[in-house]
Amino acid sequence: MKKIFIIIGILCLLLFSLFFFLHFKDKDLSYEDKLKNTGYSTDEVALILDKVAKKNYDLILEIGYDKSLINILTSNEYKEDNFEDYIEYYMKNKDSNINDIITIINSGYNLMNYPASTLLATLVKEKYYINENVARYLDYGNNTKADIKKIIGIVNSKADLGFYSTSYDSNLNDDNLILVNKFYHLKEDYIPSDLVSLSGQYNKGNNNKMRKEAALAFMKMVDGAKIDNIIIYNLSSFRDYDYQVNLYNKYIVRDGKDLADKYSARPGYSEHQSGLCSDLNNISDSFEGTDEAIWLQNNAYKYGFILRFPKGKEDITGYKYEPWHYRYVGVEAAKIIHEDDITLEEYYAYYIEKK
Ligand SMILES: [Zn+2]
Repeated sequence: MKKIFIIIGILCLLLFSLFFFLHFKDKDLSYEDKLKNTGYSTDEVALILDKVAKKNYDLILEIGYDKSLINILTSNEYKEDNFEDYIEYYMKNKDSNINDIITIINSGYNLMNYPASTLLATLVKEKYYINENVARYLDYGNNTKADIKKIIGIVNSKADLGFYSTSYDSNLNDDNLILVNKFYHLKEDYIPSDLVSLSGQYNKGNNNKMRKEAALAFMKMVDGAKIDNIIIYNLSSFRDYDYQVNLYNKYIVRDGKDLADKYSARPGYSEHQSGLCSDLNNISDSFEGTDEAIWLQNNAYKYGFILRFPKGKEDITGYKYEPWHYRYVGVEAAKIIHEDDITLEEYYAYYIEKK
């Protein structure tokens, strides 16, 4: 008697299993048929079943036949997890390039409300892309057709807003990375508390003070250069606010404000007040291309110094090329700035200021 119950039990179980198997098989089959009925070929249906999660089958049926859907699924960059986002973005940007849509979604940034474009797809792949700047990148890029690195550099440095258009206090907590430029300024009475004097072979100028860590690094750099038979020395490092007032006013009288702004900082906006930079050897365009200038370009970063106003970056720094002006930022930052060919402005925006 017991045996009969067991057999009946097993039979019931088998029947149930068969029922469930057939039930779900039918459901799959019906999706397949429905997909075929919307116009997808056998191969396309196979692709959809292979690459799209079941929960999104209805979404596809809703859209109906669309060749772009197949293009999305066959892209090398396709990620199943992003499927719903691809579709949502595609529906808003039906005429856009499918690869651009995929790249923009894959970036992980929320750009659903920005039109898909090749410019946007190129931007999101850039190392120094900052999502909160995206509207300004697109504005600047579409208006100027500048190359992609320039767009990012200009916008990250705020240069697209216009030099001196807004003014922020330099953050003294940034220490060696303190930013002083045409947007960030030091207060009138700011004088670093740890200034030391450069002397002897390290200096040939009247303004010979530097913050201690920078001064030590400067001397190390001069010693390193000497081994390569290169003689480096400071001409002008720390200059206080009042000094810059006199200098800037003198330049305005000579050249007018517009021209003076291109090479001289307004008081408070001069990096020299930070005690972290040095005008060295020869404050003149003729310093460019000399053995000393070339040595510095190739080696200064190893000591934590960067060429502060490089050639080709005038529209980012707001200053014309100054082959003689070196700024201490510490070895770690200097290496990145040197290797990635960026300015302190770009470094600051990405590594310090970005939320
Ligand atoms: Zn300088």
